[in-house]
Amino acid sequence: MDSKLSATNDPTDLILRAVAFAAHKHRDQRRKDKGASPYINHPIQLAKVLWEDGEVRDPEVIAAALLHDTLEDTETTWMELRGEFGEDIADVVLEVTDTQWIKKELRKRLQVARARHSSEQAKLVKLADKICNLRDMSAHPPAGWGLERKQQYFDWAREVVDRLRGTHAELERKFDEVYALKP
Ligand code: ZN
Repeated sequence: MDSKLSATNDPTDLILRAVAFAAHKHRDQRRKDKGASPYINHPIQLAKVLWEDGEVRDPEVIAAALLHDTLEDTETTWMELRGEFGEDIADVVLEVTDTQWIKKELRKRLQVARARHSSEQAKLVKLADKICNLRDMSAHPPAGWGLERKQQYFDWAREVVDRLRGTHAELERKFDEVYALKP
């Protein structure tokens, strides 16, 4: 356990463990695009948006981006994330998880997480998620989605981002850029 915790301090080690963990958890999932691309492409894309578009250099934020859908879309638990990556990263992932998927016993934990510093990190991950979602929607819309459903998706993403404004000017600008492509 000690060696694992100290290894967490090395950013490359942390990122590699996060990408391997997420790839394993999402191994049977596919995206909704026409080509049904592997799900893991999405969390990797988030990490790249944070690093390249946002110049975010906090390894915990990059790791949380890689893990951001594990609680919502796989059988991963918060305890498991805490064991593998520590409480801070587990809390950021919890914060970006849609509340309808959070079990009762974790709601209290979520309030604790929201009151702590993880909120700023969680906002960055959410911003990157919405940028990626709209870029994907523009480039590879899911088969069978009508115009109205696509428009609602864009507007819903914008509502989420509007609540996060003031977090990261450049990422917010990138979001507005892709929002402008709304069908
Ligand atoms: Zn996502």
